[in-house]
Amino acid sequence: MSLSDPSPLLDSHSRVHTSLRVSVTDRCNIRCFYCMPDENVRFRPREEILTFEEITRFVRVVSQMGVRRLRLTGGEPLVRSELPRLVRMLAELPLIEDLALTTNGILLADLAAELCSAGLTRLNISLDTLDEVTFQKISRREGLHRVLAGIEAAQRAGFAQIRLNAIAIQGLTEDEVIPLARFARDRGLELRFIEYMPLDAEKHWQSTDVLDGAAIRQILEDEFGPLLPVDPPHSSQPATDFVFADGGGRIGLIQPVSQPFCEACDRLRLTAEGQVRNCLFSSAEWDARAMLRNGGTDDELADLVRDCVRAKAAAHGINTVQFIRPERAMYQIGG
Ligand code: SAM
Ligand code: SF4
Repeated sequence: MSLSDPSPLLDSHSRVHTSLRVSVTDRCNIRCFYCMPDENVRFRPREEILTFEEITRFVRVVSQMGVRRLRLTGGEPLVRSELPRLVRMLAELPLIEDLALTTNGILLADLAAELCSAGLTRLNISLDTLDEVTFQKISRREGLHRVLAGIEAAQRAGFAQIRLNAIAIQGLTEDEVIPLARFARDRGLELRFIEYMPLDAEKHWQSTDVLDGAAIRQILEDEFGPLLPVDPPHSSQPATDFVFADGGGRIGLIQPVSQPFCEACDRLRLTAEGQVRNCLFSSAEWDARAMLRNGGTDDELADLVRDCVRAKAAAHGINTVQFIRPERAMYQIGG
């Protein structure tokens, strides 16, 4: 019934859903304090994690419902073994137009070329600092040199687009803004700053920890001159994009806390163990894995996804008194 329904994946606030984030693992090889606990992380047992075949089936079904853009994430997606095989399977789906991945870059030097030839078109690499001591303070592990080698390998591999993502945390990352911008400008890479959200496993987040987009813009303009706003490639994209007036590249500000972009949200999420979520901050999940493993039909899966989309709240409400943090931290959802 539902798969033959030609209507778009619409929620009750008239938002059409065309993009899906798939977490391929909740595991990670570092421990960013804004995401994971430092020690004693309880990862999901392997048998709970969706297989490549299950992920591909789910994506095929939602692509038949209008989803066109896909991003693989985690945890750290590159720690999932044989990831290029999954990329190849997804790249073969005829309705998927855009296949992207977000990574911390630690394992990228070895995998960039293979991922590119498997059909991955776009890459976001997280880079919060260029200083090894600050890297260790944030990620509680070593490895900045590996991330930098990963960025170089990705640039050689020939991706259509590579972006750098940097977290923005008050009292911690202000001094990183200019070196990161210079690094990105020198390499012709786009750089985006993301406001810190209340999704850290240790639940230390406070609103005063957010280094907001306006402050970042000011730091950048004081150093490099005016930033000129540019039109986004998609109306639903979360970033506000700018170019430097001197032609030295492109900067994006992702401001989920100070300038929520819920109104234009077109995203769905699939967690590593097969739960469908309609928002990072939602408290409800729809169990696609049970359906995938218990003989559910494609139509039943499609109905489950429609139910999930229909139930989406208008906004996350981080800045309201009613806001309730989700039980899951970022690495357990898929950022
Ligand atoms: N491990 C990969 C990585 O770090 O790029 C992919 C998953 S990670 C959860 C995806 C993105 O979410 C990263 O750019 C990370 O900086 C961001 N992130 C994690 N926790 C966050 C938080 N509490 N607030 C804002 N962004 C966060
Ligand atoms: Fe790992 Fe990415 Fe979370 Fe950092 S942000 S702990 S790299 S999943």
